[in-house]
Amino acid sequence: MKKISFKELIKSLRLQTFLVILLVGIVPVSVFVGLYSSLYVNRSVDSDVTDLISNGQILSKQIISSGYLNQQSSEAVDNQLNALSTSFSGRMMIINSSLTVIKDTYNVDQGKTIVWSNIIKAFQGKTTSYYDRENEYLVVAIPIVSTSNDSDEVLGVLVMNKSMAYITTNLDYFQSVSIITLLILYAVMIALALIFSGRFTRPYDKFSAAIDAEENGSNSAGIAVNDYTETQQVSEKLNSLIARMKVVDESRQEFVSNVSHELKTPLTSMKVLADSLNGQEDVPIELYKEFMADIGDEIDRETKIINDLLSLVKMDKAAASLTISPVNMNELIELILKRLKPIAEKQQVEVVFESFRPVTAEVDEVKITLAITNLVENGIKYNHEGGWVHVSLNSDHQYCYIKVEDSGMGIPQESLDYIFERFYRVDKSHSREIGGTGLGLAITKSAVLMHQGAIKVHSVEGEGTMFDVRIPLNYIEKEN
Ligand code: ADP
Repeated sequence: MKKISFKELIKSLRLQTFLVILLVGIVPVSVFVGLYSSLYVNRSVDSDVTDLISNGQILSKQIISSGYLNQQSSEAVDNQLNALSTSFSGRMMIINSSLTVIKDTYNVDQGKTIVWSNIIKAFQGKTTSYYDRENEYLVVAIPIVSTSNDSDEVLGVLVMNKSMAYITTNLDYFQSVSIITLLILYAVMIALALIFSGRFTRPYDKFSAAIDAEENGSNSAGIAVNDYTETQQVSEKLNSLIARMKVVDESRQEFVSNVSHELKTPLTSMKVLADSLNGQEDVPIELYKEFMADIGDEIDRETKIINDLLSLVKMDKAAASLTISPVNMNELIELILKRLKPIAEKQQVEVVFESFRPVTAEVDEVKITLAITNLVENGIKYNHEGGWVHVSLNSDHQYCYIKVEDSGMGIPQESLDYIFERFYRVDKSHSREIGGTGLGLAITKSAVLMHQGAIKVHSVEGEGTMFDVRIPLNYIEKEN
């Protein structure tokens, strides 16, 4: 198995999914457990403070009414004090206005004078509470107030200490339960994270295996990862990409074999001609001349094939290689027809140009010239003596329209789908006779498509052919 680097490990979708599932499952519970402890402490302290204050207030009223502060002992108050201190597991103290402890349920500070800040505050009328977390007790000091008609007077202070050890006991129990629960939860979450992260990333393994199989040629059924809607869509797209690549590869192979064949044919002819001259003795000079003329023709043919191939290769380059400039299409077509005039005259074909309006289009002049030349040249080549080729130019606000119509031999219906393919010729020997390479229309189509244009053909065998070309007046950059 391939060794994975640390960076690759961190980037791994499986690891990241695993961690996300783990965090989503574990973090909230862990935070809750942590928060619960501190919430529990606060809540317990608050409720105990309220409890102590309400008990203390009832008691302080009893203390006032029984005159307890003036050393008048009261059994009811003593009983109440003892009952409360027992139930709080704590200590109760009563301090009089001279800061003397007149009652201490622990009997430790009885009779002593104490000056604690909470006692001073209580004498100022403030009830205070303080939770000593370390020593686990809660102290509440409340003023003992005598309410007469017009004013309240603080006559003493009631100090209540409550043991809070139960909080630690409860927390310890809660924590031991939560540790066990958390450990079980962590184990469950790790198992779930492992299962689900594996399940979520399984389609990638399937893709990888299917692509490997495709590369080895052992995958005849194509890629089908149907685990999720998304992976199904990606599979379909990959399959159509692979199908397209196969077609491209096949056509590339076919093209290479066609090129080799086409380039070899003139060479074979030349070799035969040269061998037959070399093989004969006392060859008449006329035969030499005739064969040398044939060899010259074959060289011309080879040159034409190579030139056409070079044009095609240039067309195959990205659209960025276009040199776009505004071109007067009327002048361009007139120039093309002028150049083709000698061939037309030789074939005795009349070429007519009809322009409906002046047209200027943003095109690559060289490539569009090549495209139109090929169409008109075909109209002349595949024509008969006394025939005609009619070229027309028109435009609307968006496109320029070029029509090349001829009175020639026409193209059989079944060939119409193939004539734009490289090296396709309806009649190989006839095309060869008249110097065709089968590349002309492929070059034309590429040039038109590079300009985001369109080309259509309409033909009736024995009557003639019409090519319709449409090119945008303003060059449209191809989106890629
Ligand atoms: P070629 O170099 O053989 O002319 P093209 O690619 O230009 O190659 O054309 C492909 C084939 O389409 C030609 O061999 C010919 O059979 C047919 N063809 C093209 N244009 C015409 C036309 N105007 N009339 C009849 N046949 C045509």
